[in-house]
Amino acid sequence: MTILDGKQTSTNIKNELKEEVQLRKEKGLKAPHLAAVIVGNDGASMTYVSSKVKACDFVGYDSTLIELPSETTEEELLNQISDLNNNPDIDGFIVQLPLPKHIDEQKVLLAVDPDKDVDGFHPTNVGKMTLNLSTFLPATPYGILELLERYEVETSGKNVVVIGRSHIVGSPMSILMSQKRPAGNATVTITHSRTKNLTEITREADIIVAALGKAEFLTGDMVKDGVTIIDVGITRVEDASKKRGYRLAGDVDFASVSPKAEFITPVPGGVGPMTIAMLLKNTMLACQRRND
Ligand code: NAP
Repeated sequence: MTILDGKQTSTNIKNELKEEVQLRKEKGLKAPHLAAVIVGNDGASMTYVSSKVKACDFVGYDSTLIELPSETTEEELLNQISDLNNNPDIDGFIVQLPLPKHIDEQKVLLAVDPDKDVDGFHPTNVGKMTLNLSTFLPATPYGILELLERYEVETSGKNVVVIGRSHIVGSPMSILMSQKRPAGNATVTITHSRTKNLTEITREADIIVAALGKAEFLTGDMVKDGVTIIDVGITRVEDASKKRGYRLAGDVDFASVSPKAEFITPVPGGVGPMTIAMLLKNTMLACQRRND
């Protein structure tokens, strides 16, 4: 069994980006500049955003964090987005989700300039991704492709089962892995909460991408020997033995699945750190497109 080490791989990617920033500076070119907008003070969202800002510092990007109170109106947020769209120094920006209930998420995502949409959530970029055209790939699926590629996990002709059909993970993952591309060319089945006989389907899978958000859902009896497991889930599970009162659990029961797996991502330290590294990669791409 080989652990797909997202922490190490993301550090390698960040070091590559750091070198690229150095080279840009030596040539007199600007460093990439990422902005992040957060509305409200949701604990998990604040943690994600501060990791993104920290990662920018590490690679030498400029970063701007815009923290807005939870009572910010939709109009105020749209004005903020318009400012970022028009700010020539900002290469890319993200709006941290989820947004407070009184703000229409779709309206906000549509307002982001597709050329600065480094999360890859704008319909223009989703469309380009679907057509296998160059664009910003959504960071989590992009990170999974990169991890599979760097560990040389064979995907061509393999049966891939994706559990979950969200717009940010399951759906793009299934599209990307079925395409003619590195870490692609797979035969993909996408499953969701209405899928019948899920275990029969997962038992046939060479590769399983679990992205449903249910702690330790996928158990050893649901997989075959030699399977590759990508665990996207991050759920806070109460744990009195931990100082912070919870632990982070994936969607996979690591104890029963890992003995049967050829490759497996851990939680934490698997897909999570890769997501941030790929956001940085998208920001570098945005910067190159805009300035070079
Ligand atoms: P989501 O929007 O809640 O979607 C969950 C999907 O799972 C839905 O499509 C749902 O089906 C499906 N599902 C729920 N219960 C199921 C079941 N019993 N059997 C089969 N499918 C089931 O979640 P998400 O945003 O994709 O996130 C999924 C997990 O990944 C969460 O734990 C999240 O925190 C984590 N995540 C991690 C990263 C990272 O960087 N590591 C990034 C993003 C998300 P329906 O469509 O029928 O409701």
